[in-house]
Amino acid sequence: MKKTKISWSSFDLWRLCPHAYDLFYLEEKGFDLDEKQDRFFAIIGSVIQEIFSRFYNDQLWRLKKEAIPYLTDTLLPKVWPFVLDGFTVNWENHDKSEKELYEEAKGMIPKVTKLLLGEKLLFPNGLQRAEVKHMLPFNEENGIYLMGKVDFLFKDSEVIILDGKATHNVKDDQLYFYSYLYELINGELPDKIGYIYYDTAEVSYIKFSARKYNRLKKEINELVQAIDKKDFPAKPELNKCEACTLKSICSKKELNNATA
Ligand code: SF4
Repeated sequence: MKKTKISWSSFDLWRLCPHAYDLFYLEEKGFDLDEKQDRFFAIIGSVIQEIFSRFYNDQLWRLKKEAIPYLTDTLLPKVWPFVLDGFTVNWENHDKSEKELYEEAKGMIPKVTKLLLGEKLLFPNGLQRAEVKHMLPFNEENGIYLMGKVDFLFKDSEVIILDGKATHNVKDDQLYFYSYLYELINGELPDKIGYIYYDTAEVSYIKFSARKYNRLKKEINELVQAIDKKDFPAKPELNKCEACTLKSICSKKELNNATA
């Protein structure tokens, strides 16, 4: 049976417009969005995430302050081409050169390292992982899986989930999505959820809202039902469609007649 995976990004796309979800995730259109999309704005976040995945998973934090020159001078030159290799970037469309972006990433690393060391986000006897991927059979009968990639998971006297962000443009529902996945796997909710902002080098926790959490769970179940019924109506709106990365392949007439 074909597996259908519900990730945060697919769920968020479905909320924006079910037809977009259908186009991108369910129909075989022979259109590789990632391949054509300009990933300029994802570079810094992906590079920093990769660096700090290794900081935790390879226990580079044991180097303490010596970790900083290792990350900036040894690891970054290796990680940079590794990450960019999978990206399409139209450099001529942006006001920063690759070299400038590289230097920007290099400047963030010492600040984020000091933050992680200073925030006591090291639990040598506990679990600390970066980039934890989970896939969970959610509705096995219909081959539906819930999938999530948790950027940082710390498990010691308390369980902390943090999402790494290169900008402050965030949606707290993403944290509730990971909390749901964590609860389904472990039978309990994390104690704290929040963000690590790479640009300002700060950790910011959000206040858990049971109302928002329950609403998100309800919506995920609605998506499961929509997948089951193959019910993905287009919800065109002028602003939404103009910003939609799938507009070039959206065959719905509503696109041309969209009204705000
Ligand atoms: S262009 Fe508009 S109607 Fe088409 S998938 Fe995108 S948001 Fe939906």
